[in-house]
Amino acid sequence: MQRIIFFLFSYFFFSSVVFSQWYQDTFKVMGTLSHVEFWLDDYQHRLTQVDNQQQARTLLLAVKEEMFRIDQQMSPYKQQSELSRINRLASSQAVKISQELFDLLTVAQDISRLSEGAFDITYASVGYQYNYRERKKPSQSDITKALPAINYQSIILDRKQKTIRFKHADVRIDLGGIAKGYAVKRCLEILKKAGIEHALVSAGGDTGLLGDRRGRPWLVGIKHPRADHKTAVHIPLVDEAISTSGDYERYFIEDGVRYHHIINPKTGDSARAVVSVSVIGKDPTYVDALSTTVFVKGLKEGLALIEKLPEFETIIIDKNQRLHFSSGLQP
Ligand code: AMP
Ligand code: MG
Repeated sequence: MQRIIFFLFSYFFFSSVVFSQWYQDTFKVMGTLSHVEFWLDDYQHRLTQVDNQQQARTLLLAVKEEMFRIDQQMSPYKQQSELSRINRLASSQAVKISQELFDLLTVAQDISRLSEGAFDITYASVGYQYNYRERKKPSQSDITKALPAINYQSIILDRKQKTIRFKHADVRIDLGGIAKGYAVKRCLEILKKAGIEHALVSAGGDTGLLGDRRGRPWLVGIKHPRADHKTAVHIPLVDEAISTSGDYERYFIEDGVRYHHIINPKTGDSARAVVSVSVIGKDPTYVDALSTTVFVKGLKEGLALIEKLPEFETIIIDKNQRLHFSSGLQP
């Protein structure tokens, strides 16, 4: 009897105490900085604050592990990744791959068709010859030689067999333009499943949001493309994803020319029409791939593409650092 009274007492005492709070973590993965923060309600009436903190730690770890798992699977720099295996084998045989990678490659192919080849993961057939940290770039004759291998139509995905094959000998693929958005999407799903209603997950320039910041919108900053640590504009967002592609992320300058990591598949050279592109929409995977796409297409064609897609908006910063908004963002 005494124990029951004690239990009832503790239940009513502790359930009236609020242990809800924001939790966050920042870590390096996929060659960039990732950040997660979420509001954990003690809606399950956890008996102590320790319970609440334990639950938060479990969720923070789950998000971190998911990011590292995707990096292990999709990194072109890790010899044992599923992606590296494809690059080694798919020119000579059909390679069986996981359902997960098959699905992401299917999305990448959809966006290649939608963008008429501006987004093309086979850009890597030339792209691997750049090393921005070591200021290395291919010569024009290296580019000319490798250029025929850039063509998303050389990728054959067999839905029934779950295989990938390259139709051309020198094809390489790289998911750098879409994998971070996909990782953000997966992490948000983990948090949502656990009952979280307010969260932000980011990986480099890719950010996904659950809900609002408890009563006010999240304010996501778009980096100033030419001033480190400065923000060009803050965008209030609720339950959306935003991805920014910029020519300042990985680059070097030689003879006044900026060589950076977003490659125009038609030329094998860096795309130089604009300096920053953000795309806003519901799906983190799509906004990631679309920001890279619009960057390659440039102002006029990039805006035209986004205007055709009612579920996406864009903010483009041109070479004179002027901002351009798609029609859905104009006041
Ligand atoms: P993001 O920062 O999301 O724009 O992605 C840039 C990354 O996308 C680069 O580091 C490359 O890994 C990859 N990438 C570069 N050019 C292209 C392209 N034309 N199509 C698809 N991916 C690309
Ligand atoms: Mg992208």
